[in-house]
Amino acid sequence: HQRQRQPIMAGNWKMNPATEADALNLANGFCALLNQLEDTCAVDVKEGCTEVVLFPPFPFISKVKDIVSKDGISVGAQQVYYENKGAFTGSVAASMVKSVGCEYVLCGHSERRSLFSDSDANINQKVRKVLEYGMRPILCVGETQDDYDLGITQEVCAMQVTKDLRGVSKEDMSNVVIAYEPVWAIGTGLVCDAKAANDVHKFIRTILAKMYDDEVAQSTRIQYGGSVTPESVDGLMAMSDIDGCLVGGASLFADKFARIVSFK
Ligand code: PGA
Repeated sequence: HQRQRQPIMAGNWKMNPATEADALNLANGFCALLNQLEDTCAVDVKEGCTEVVLFPPFPFISKVKDIVSKDGISVGAQQVYYENKGAFTGSVAASMVKSVGCEYVLCGHSERRSLFSDSDANINQKVRKVLEYGMRPILCVGETQDDYDLGITQEVCAMQVTKDLRGVSKEDMSNVVIAYEPVWAIGTGLVCDAKAANDVHKFIRTILAKMYDDEVAQSTRIQYGGSVTPESVDGLMAMSDIDGCLVGGASLFADKFARIVSFK
């Protein structure tokens, strides 16, 4: 199908790899493979046909950026706190990740929601802080296994999108990316059926149309996340309303992630 939105492929390294040396190896390996693939592949990241973003752990962001930026790849932070500065031991502010070159920040990832008690109110503050600092939030939403079993996927996604984007202007929406990540598909190997995921993406656009208008609904990029692999990426990216993927496990393998970002 004809794409009306620029594809965006993101690699969320989570709390991996263990050392700086390993992180730089991964970044170098990925760039080398991508450059090889690009010789034969229609997708040219450097020319900006597809946007690629890596989310390394905080200590590795600067050096990873030095390695990947020459290939047109950007970096982002996996999380920020919503306060500007001060006595918040262990926290990292939006200004800090902005100053080391982050263009994106993940907001509301399910692991932050479940393991670190990120509430929708906090996520909303973080989304707005990221936008205030001129970066782009990738807002992650999605139902748990229990929600799925109860058949309330749409209700959960609608509630999260509505609460987490509260107060975000129409103008700022051009800098927002949404990632639909069914929690039961994250790290489980159970990739969501492409058509089913596409239906949720379409539903999220109806919510955006209600909150904003049709233009925002049609122009906002919505990624799918949850056990994306080289085997599943092409089917997902063939869908009308899936504009990219947010990749965890497979992004830790240079060859797998290079294949994923050069989807066909
Ligand atoms: P996964 O993680 O690809 O390992 O399922 C996706 C994510 O958590 O963003």
